[in-house]
Amino acid sequence: MSIQRTFSIIKPDATERNLTGAVNAVIESAGLRIVAQKRLLMSRREAETFYAVHKERPFFGELVDFMTSGPVVVQVLEGENAVMRYRDVMGATNPANAAEGTIRKKFARSIGENSVHGSDSPENAAIEIAQFFSGNEIVG
Ligand code: ADP
Ligand code: MG
Repeated sequence: MSIQRTFSIIKPDATERNLTGAVNAVIESAGLRIVAQKRLLMSRREAETFYAVHKERPFFGELVDFMTSGPVVVQVLEGENAVMRYRDVMGATNPANAAEGTIRKKFARSIGENSVHGSDSPENAAIEIAQFFSGNEIVG
């Protein structure tokens, strides 16, 4: 175990319902610290780059449409074992399978509109953080 950073996105379905603070409350209650945060509109190019690993999947077009449909809040979270910790706090991709108390169980609308993104490994966290933040924007 060690102090890690992970990358989070509060997705358009959540910002649309004014849930940024509610999601942040779950994050902070779980012991994760929000060390960088900004609200922005993703361009199609940014969304396609971010989700490039999924470009052959049937839902890729829908995913890019969704992620560019409204504001997102991109974040860097810091804490003990932050990558896996945040995956646990988010819950399963499909909210129907998400555990009680998780962000996706509380807030997600569907497997696509599932309120949050979190990195799946420390390596991907570093790549994803660098896509949206410069070093001096992260204050731990
Ligand atoms: P996670 O976000 O839990 O890491 P994935 O990396 O598998 O999940 O998928 C990335 C995102 O693509 C999901 O969070 C969701 O928004 C969307 N997605 C995944 N599977 C589907 C699906 N079957 N239909 C529509 N959208 C999907
Ligand atoms: Mg993923």
